[in-house]
Amino acid sequence: MPGIIIDRDRCKGCETCVEACPQQIIAMSKEINAKGYFYARVDDPFRCLGCRICAIVCPDVAIEVLSEGVQYSLFEY
Ligand code: SF4
Ligand code: SF4
Repeated sequence: MPGIIIDRDRCKGCETCVEACPQQIIAMSKEINAKGYFYARVDDPFRCLGCRICAIVCPDVAIEVLSEGVQYSLFEY
């Protein structure tokens, strides 16, 4: 299973990663971070593909994906 690390205090709550995730497993927290923003968190890490799209689109480089390859078999076409 890929590991998703979101540095919540770097997050500015823009929700770009929420929109970009093909599995729709990123959501915004109901709590705020040190900057006063609602931060992104991964709801269901077991469904993560390790595609790194969330990390690529994050303008604040707040997301790190630890993965070996991409689990395309999990896509539901
Ligand atoms: S690596 Fe891909 S599937 Fe996993 S949380 Fe990021 S965008 Fe979603
Ligand atoms: S794209 Fe980055 S800054 Fe925007 S909500 Fe996601 S983690 Fe936070």
